[in-house]
Amino acid sequence: MKFDNIIIGGGVAGLTCAIRCAQAGLKTAVVAAGQSALHFSSGSIDVLSRLPNGTAIQYPFSEFDRLTAQSPQHPYSKLGLDVTRQAIDWYQQTMANIGIELHHQADDCNHLRITPMGTFKATWLSQSTVHPFPMFEPAQALQKIALVTIDGFRDFQPQLAADNLRLLPHFANVEITTAAVALPDVELMQRNPCEYRSIDISRVLADDNKRQRFALAMKNTIGEADLVVLPAVFGNGTGTKIIKKIEQLTGYTLCEIPTMPPSLLGIRLEDAMKSYYKSLGGLILAGDEVTHGEFENNQLQRIFTRHHGDMPLVANHYLLASGSFFSRGLHAERHHIEEAILGLDIAPLASTNHQHWYQSQFFSNQPHQFLGMGVETNQQLQPSLNGNTITNLYCAGAILAHYNPVFEGSGSGVAISSGFHAAQSMIALQNNHQSSVIFPSLAEGNI
Ligand SMILES: Cc1cc2nc3c(=O)[nH]c(=O)nc-3n(C[C@H](O)[C@H](O)[C@H](O)COP(=O)(O)OP(=O)(O)OC[C@H]3O[C@@H](n4cnc5c(N)ncnc54)[C@H](O)[C@@H]3O)c2cc1C
Repeated sequence: MKFDNIIIGGGVAGLTCAIRCAQAGLKTAVVAAGQSALHFSSGSIDVLSRLPNGTAIQYPFSEFDRLTAQSPQHPYSKLGLDVTRQAIDWYQQTMANIGIELHHQADDCNHLRITPMGTFKATWLSQSTVHPFPMFEPAQALQKIALVTIDGFRDFQPQLAADNLRLLPHFANVEITTAAVALPDVELMQRNPCEYRSIDISRVLADDNKRQRFALAMKNTIGEADLVVLPAVFGNGTGTKIIKKIEQLTGYTLCEIPTMPPSLLGIRLEDAMKSYYKSLGGLILAGDEVTHGEFENNQLQRIFTRHHGDMPLVANHYLLASGSFFSRGLHAERHHIEEAILGLDIAPLASTNHQHWYQSQFFSNQPHQFLGMGVETNQQLQPSLNGNTITNLYCAGAILAHYNPVFEGSGSGVAISSGFHAAQSMIALQNNHQSSVIFPSLAEGNI
């Protein structure tokens, strides 16, 4: 099977590249072995909230010079401010066109999103159903917040979140209440008192009649509130519409809070991206897995997958966006790490002692070193094999070395901008290739 481009990995990096290539009319295939990190994510797009040296920052796009000075090999340093901003703006616009509104602050400052623990995390873009708490005055204009769960839902504990929220000085004068609202007809479906997952509840609330009864129960249980914070249990594809309907029925302003996996806020992004990509004619080989590839003349010639056996997939250009250890794009041995599919060169490790690769505390104010490990690339995000640059292969997202998505709060921002950059490079090369076939003298400059 021959394509213009093949993308290995169906996370936000791979799908960004795939959509951009398909928009440009390139014959594109995505091979996606399993779930991406979006199934575990908040569904907000982090661009940058800390510099590599740990300095907290508020205006990500004003900090590229400092970032580059501290970390010249960082993916943002390689891409530059203009490409990164263009990519994030393109993503925001593309998602809006397909029904997912993502917002940032008018002054280009990060905002805060509330976590299930009742703490705050800085981010750049949040979905329209996630309340953007301002960075400097998070409680601004709020007098009463209700933290609400659904009876039988196991993944959100409003009392715990409320206790943490009450500790924050900004919320000292805000009344914080908690409540649990019953789902309609719960006695018909409940086998034990805490068995629901977000996806189960979303199915119940998709029903008009049950949603109306749920809205009435909310009014009766919660009372007055400026903001009602609920776990994200409102569906993936139709979730935003369902929330708007409940807001109309109750008069409340709702704020979704990400849950334990499956995270419907993240899945909502993935589903929308995949549907749009397919509507552009793109192919997804879902559940298939790239096992290895063959190289000639410093180019990746063909790849092989578990489902297609010895029948190779061939393309002019490839993107490797197979994620980090979490998605099995990287593999750790005791004293070294490997890129799991093609055996690409890895950025030198600061230490080969694996005990230096992580902090003893999971929630630490120091970076876990393993999250910054990955594939070494040149300025164009092209990797190398045994020191030789592979000229028709790009890397994007969590497989890249030299950045720490969790510590810096830069995960989706790097994934989107590196996936976008790879697509733009592939499109430009494909166009050059086509014009050299049709107008060879023009392409060679012989006029
Ligand atoms: C738990 C968690 C929560 C996060 N929350 C946030 C957040 O709220 N906001 C934010 O901005 N960032 C967040 N991040 C960071 C951010 O989500 C990731 O950096 C980003 O999603 C990485 O995207 P990716 O496409 O590079 O990789 P991934 O999303 O990991 O996708 C990799 C894909 O490659 C596939 N794959 C792997 N090997 C193969 C193979 N051999 N053949 C075919 N396919 C293969 C995988 O199955 C998967 O589909 C979070 C990360 C994690 C781990």
